[in-house]
Amino acid sequence: MNRREDANARRQHQARLRELAGAIRRCRQCGLFRHRLHAVAGEGPPDARIVLVGEAPGAGEDRTGRPFIGPAGKFLDRLLAAHGFRRQDLFLTSCVKCRPPGNRTPHRAELQTCINAWLRPQIELIDPEVTVLCGRTAVSALLDRSLRISDYHGVFRCRDGRIFFITYHPAAAMRFPAAAEAIQHDFSLLADRMRNWPGHRSMPPDEPEQPGPGRRGTVKNH
Ligand code: SF4
Repeated sequence: MNRREDANARRQHQARLRELAGAIRRCRQCGLFRHRLHAVAGEGPPDARIVLVGEAPGAGEDRTGRPFIGPAGKFLDRLLAAHGFRRQDLFLTSCVKCRPPGNRTPHRAELQTCINAWLRPQIELIDPEVTVLCGRTAVSALLDRSLRISDYHGVFRCRDGRIFFITYHPAAAMRFPAAAEAIQHDFSLLADRMRNWPGHRSMPPDEPEQPGPGRRGTVKNH
């Protein structure tokens, strides 16, 4: 693709992402719409190399319509900067786009509805090299309910031809020192991967077989 085609494709993706965001703001496909001030579609470039997925909007996100802007968002900003990432280069979003009442965990049906309606199309459109799943809700909804973050954080997994990376949610890292330490290590692995293997959206066929929990920065096909 030459530079002009590249720019055209980027513009089309940007327009399509905006259409999705508009549809998300009008969405009433699950009961969470009743509790929102603003649906939070997500933000970031249409060709982001990384899509980062949290659980759900919190109070600050609901008030402003922007992702990761509360204390956990500030923690995330520091984490990204410490590992050479810039927030504006990632697409930040969540499994469900409307804030659950009292910040409860989204129900399974809400997760499936919102992920199928909006998150999957967003990921398909952006086509990132890596989708980072932050926390248990994102990991169990998009990968596997049996995976424990404490065992699998820092691990890449391949699912349906996409590369996912498992880590803690920044809000958990703020509360628990062990999670804070782990997420720093996870992001250093992620930074290594993005630096050393740019432009790849799948793993090479000769990638070493799965280690399972306890070894980090490796790939597991699922
Ligand atoms: S949480 Fe998702 S599916 Fe439910 S109303 Fe909001 S945007 Fe629609």
